[in-house]
Amino acid sequence: MDNKSVRGRRVVVIGTGGTIAGRATSALDNIGYSAAEVGVAELVQDLAPDGVTLLTEQVAQLDSKDMDFGVWQSLAERCSEWLALPDIDGIVITHGTDTLEETAYFLQSVLAPEKPVVLTCAMRPATALAPDGPQNVRDAVCLASGNADSAARGVLIVCAGRVHGAFDVQKVHTYRLDAFDSGDAGPIGHIEEGMLRRVREWPAGDRASADRVLERVRALPSDRWPRVEIVTSHAGASGRVIDALCASTAAGDALDGLVIAATGNGSIHRSVEAAALRAQEAGVAVVRATKCVEGRILPVVNATLRDAGKLTPVKARISLMLELMTRSAAPTPR
Ligand code: ASP
Repeated sequence: MDNKSVRGRRVVVIGTGGTIAGRATSALDNIGYSAAEVGVAELVQDLAPDGVTLLTEQVAQLDSKDMDFGVWQSLAERCSEWLALPDIDGIVITHGTDTLEETAYFLQSVLAPEKPVVLTCAMRPATALAPDGPQNVRDAVCLASGNADSAARGVLIVCAGRVHGAFDVQKVHTYRLDAFDSGDAGPIGHIEEGMLRRVREWPAGDRASADRVLERVRALPSDRWPRVEIVTSHAGASGRVIDALCASTAAGDALDGLVIAATGNGSIHRSVEAAALRAQEAGVAVVRATKCVEGRILPVVNATLRDAGKLTPVKARISLMLELMTRSAAPTPR
């Protein structure tokens, strides 16, 4: 018996809202509900496995389409404080599905935790005839407590019995209960009756660089985080959107970075590319990320705009924002 079994395991469940906390007027209504109504303490009631104590904290109560930097800052802060406590085994975060992959990527980038931080969600509201939230929470708690696999670590996502890593996961379906996928990488594993059947490695994390980023995330008021916008390239696209964004910089609302949601292997409509190069010339950090749901951008020689590899546009945006934050913290060269 290890020490943890002797003292029992302790998991913090942080609530942020989402469909999992949603209420509809009829149990037969799976889509006409109000998200973010049920408190996290109620969501976890009677779901703790034997020997696991659940502590709850409500950090936000919102529909995740409205997720913002203030909530991310609080999540980063609270997670890092809880994770530092030796008697806390892991964290579960209940979250809406719509921006879950963004929050997961953000948290992995700023925490690179050695303990499990497990985001979970639901596609049906808490009031549904057959809600999926309770099983997802139960699976997430099994993983976060170390019960499902004592080696669990990193920011993980649990939905419909599958465990995904923060870097690869994407919401891929609007309605199906198993709404997430990890593309080429595949899921990390499957939760089966509270146990993990792992099929690939845990997410790799660089703690030293995560700590540097976390320091900036904590120090910089969330309304002063870099402004990074996403512009999509498509048939008939025009560079006027980028020119307008750059003009807003001149008007005092500075554009710091730009992600081009590019086609295929990072290609961009020539009109968008010309405007992106003008923006880059003017000091805006520009990155290309592919809109393809699988694969990565393979670098080509003489590329004039750098690429985000396998990151999706929304994750490339977070990556660029964090890069700009740490860059601005560097002492000005003399
Ligand atoms: N709009 C909801 C949200 O993301 C959808 C969900 O939770 O699945 O919060």
